[in-house]
Amino acid sequence: MINIPKGTKDVLPADSYKWQYVEGVARETAKLFGVKELRTPTFEHTELFSRGVGDTTDIVTKEMYTFKDKGDRSITLKPEGTAGAVRAFIENGLIGGAMPAKMYYITPAFRYERPQAGRLREFHQFGVEIFGAKGAQTDAEAILIADSLLKKLGINVKLYINSIGCPTCRAKYNQALKEFFAPHVEELCYDCKTRYEKNPLRLLDCKEENCKKINASAPKMLDYLCEECATHFETLKTHLQNAGVAYEIDSRIVRGLDYYTRTVFEFVSTSIGAQGTVCAGGRYDGLIEQLGGNPTPAVGFAAGIERLLIVMEQSGVEIPNDDKATVYIAGMDAECRDKAFALASQLRLSGVKAEIDHMERSVKAQFKYADKIGAKYVAVIGGNELADGKANVKNMTTGESESVAFADFVAYFANK
Ligand code: ATP
Ligand code: MG
Repeated sequence: MINIPKGTKDVLPADSYKWQYVEGVARETAKLFGVKELRTPTFEHTELFSRGVGDTTDIVTKEMYTFKDKGDRSITLKPEGTAGAVRAFIENGLIGGAMPAKMYYITPAFRYERPQAGRLREFHQFGVEIFGAKGAQTDAEAILIADSLLKKLGINVKLYINSIGCPTCRAKYNQALKEFFAPHVEELCYDCKTRYEKNPLRLLDCKEENCKKINASAPKMLDYLCEECATHFETLKTHLQNAGVAYEIDSRIVRGLDYYTRTVFEFVSTSIGAQGTVCAGGRYDGLIEQLGGNPTPAVGFAAGIERLLIVMEQSGVEIPNDDKATVYIAGMDAECRDKAFALASQLRLSGVKAEIDHMERSVKAQFKYADKIGAKYVAVIGGNELADGKANVKNMTTGESESVAFADFVAYFANK
């Protein structure tokens, strides 16, 4: 017996409707904002991520699925969606097209992490990227897309926002952080010692309890913003207020890369503890240039689909399931089952979900099966019904039955 790899999951046929629902709502939401789908490969050249995600991030230093292909190229399974989207944007010349360029993706992502609830090695993201617009209104629009999605899914979350400034004001802040952490270096976790040297901003992102404690009194980026960055942040807040989106400021939210700029945000569910961040994003005005394109401002976010589903489950959201058969047609004997087969084919041509017996079971056993699969109606054809050209149709919710002529089947079930 070969088992599933650690940190991966099957989505079984009985559960896939939940995924289709979340993905469907995500697609509809994107459409409302004029955001179109982009599909990029599952693997890319490793260098795209080392440059596009950043050499000092956990993702690049510890979490990537990297291998040499048979042509001796270094290939990596995508750990996130933004780098591929930027590559496609530059490579396909979209930079010269209609601006801003707005795109979304639904993609698997791969990270070699310690698997736990809401943390997998293969997971899935719905992400949105908007390229070409520099104003805070666009940051607000990105946040609004995520907010509408979460509201439509019935998910209760808190929105936290922060600004990490621009390279100029951040340099001063990094200096202040270094001074603050200097007396604490020995108490920091192993990773944070490196962060202290290479990228002090990332210290604020640490999940270790002890580091979190020290971080609590660290200086705040918002106190170091230059005038332009401060105005940008104020404008964002005004737009969010105008749109009626509640937020809190959390100075610990960072995206510790040089090409991330200004706005960063997270939507956090209070119901799933440590893995509560269902959606995260921000502005990254330096990334497109970093990956070889003309300087182009950009903002985006990604939501983890597994985490969305966990939160929905925990908060008792009822996910509509339209996988269920409208009618199961049961036949008493071989001749009746042949009629059931013909009727079912006719119903499906008219878009009615119809199922029949494939196991040569008794009518009683067919009923049991119909109940198991959640069929809304069961139509029973016995010898008498076959002779009379009609079936006895039972509504499985109310338990009521009535006689329906075969000739009326399509009309009868069309809107059920
Ligand atoms: P975390 O802090 O939880 O590790 P992250 O900062 O690494 O998250 P991002 O790279 O911003 O996450 O990815 C965006 C979203 O993707 C996250 O908010 C989360 O919902 C989801 N996500 C990230 N990593 C995983 C994972 N290993 N398993 C499941 N979902 C994930
Ligand atoms: Mg992570």
